[in-house]
Amino acid sequence: MVGTACALELQRCGFAVTLVDPRQPGSATSHGNAGVMTRSSIVPLNNPGLWRALPALLSNRSVGLRYRPGYLARNLGWAVGFARSTSERRFRLTVRALDQLIGLSLPEHRRLLQESGQLHRLRSDGWIFLYRQNAQTEAMRLQLAAFAACGVRVAELDRVAISQLEPALRPVFARGLHVLDALSVDNPAEVVRGYAALFGQRGGRLLQCGARGLQPGADGWTVRLDDGSALQASQVVVALGPWSKDFLRGIGLAVPLAFERGYHMHYAADAGAALTRPLYDAQGGYVLSPMQQGLRLSTGVELAALDAPPNHAQLDLAEQAARQAIALGPRLDPQPWLGARPTLPDSRPMIGELPAPRRGLWAAFGHQHIGFSTGPGTARLLATLVCEQAPAIDAAAFAPARFLGR
Ligand SMILES: Cc1cc2nc3c(=O)[nH]c(=O)nc-3n(C[C@H](O)[C@H](O)[C@H](O)COP(=O)(O)OP(=O)(O)OC[C@H]3O[C@@H](n4cnc5c(N)ncnc54)[C@H](O)[C@@H]3O)c2cc1C
Repeated sequence: MVGTACALELQRCGFAVTLVDPRQPGSATSHGNAGVMTRSSIVPLNNPGLWRALPALLSNRSVGLRYRPGYLARNLGWAVGFARSTSERRFRLTVRALDQLIGLSLPEHRRLLQESGQLHRLRSDGWIFLYRQNAQTEAMRLQLAAFAACGVRVAELDRVAISQLEPALRPVFARGLHVLDALSVDNPAEVVRGYAALFGQRGGRLLQCGARGLQPGADGWTVRLDDGSALQASQVVVALGPWSKDFLRGIGLAVPLAFERGYHMHYAADAGAALTRPLYDAQGGYVLSPMQQGLRLSTGVELAALDAPPNHAQLDLAEQAARQAIALGPRLDPQPWLGARPTLPDSRPMIGELPAPRRGLWAAFGHQHIGFSTGPGTARLLATLVCEQAPAIDAAAFAPARFLGR
């Protein structure tokens, strides 16, 4: 999503753009997400409430968050930075920054969906957070305060209101929140493919090949490709999602990026299990989204290496919880899908030019749980910076220099 959106926006600004990817755009992390694009995604996992939840999380039994101890030990610097970003001051900075980026993105998505002939994929009826207990938790309070501060529109739901909104749900939820400022789509991968097709129709060049490395030159950069050829470019945007870390290591840059992996599975949704909008079951630790392929259940976070073998324990637990809430049909996919949310220690993506001596090299990665939503806003911000125009939002909050030195 992020690379494709950047390619489209830079093309709109008049650049001749080549989009390089060994896979079809929309085949990686942007393929398997929950398809939710919402102003409510402003509270990162590393919020001030994390400390209270920590003892339970450290037991490594939570359905919402698991970690591989060896992975955390090898990435201690990231873990310390992630924990430090729970301070009130940093948290407020992040909430404000994410709110601005999401605010910039949602109208851009609408425009791009329309221009790529995909408005039929868009739902504008919000999404819902569901809670099995009636008492307000610390996490809910924190979230509601952030929503109020940013003007995110929500409606409180009781048992009756929940079943009126989603009649297929069983009465296991005592309360809920209907986030009104939320959009969703029924096939994220197809949305990206539609955007990539638009880029091609407008004269953009799509090169199905991996980028192997980079070399600075007098007039910009040489991008070495997997097939042995090379491209010359005055500006290069690195938008490789979770693979950005390894790629930049090739030019000596240590990017503190970690992987919040997540799984999904589709289930048959017969008449008894029809949902009209995505939902988040806070205790169950999953999101359930109506998709073209069926009901997509996606899991919370597994902190692990990008290429570590899958562990389906979280998915199995989430499925059990979901079956309490709705009459899910059988599994539809031969294997669960696995993707990796790329996350920087302050939960803000890196968007902007790399500091000297790497001028002309741009970063657009690290979008954690919200990269599907915020690809187009990232593209807008990046393009205004490339064109040396005044950005519509605070660019400093996303500057690469905060991790890669000045
Ligand atoms: C379970 C789950 C649920 C999620 N739900 C949501 C949600 O509801 N809403 C939301 O906004 N976000 C959600 N996310 C997060 C979102 O999916 C990611 O933030 C987003 O997809 C990241 O997009 P990206 O373009 O940066 O990375 P990717 O989609 O991973 O794209 C990176 C691209 O780089 C290419 N690439 C890799 N190496 C090279 C190379 N050497 N040369 C050239 N190309 C290369 C890959 O082939 C790929 O196409 C979810 C994530 C998960 C895992």
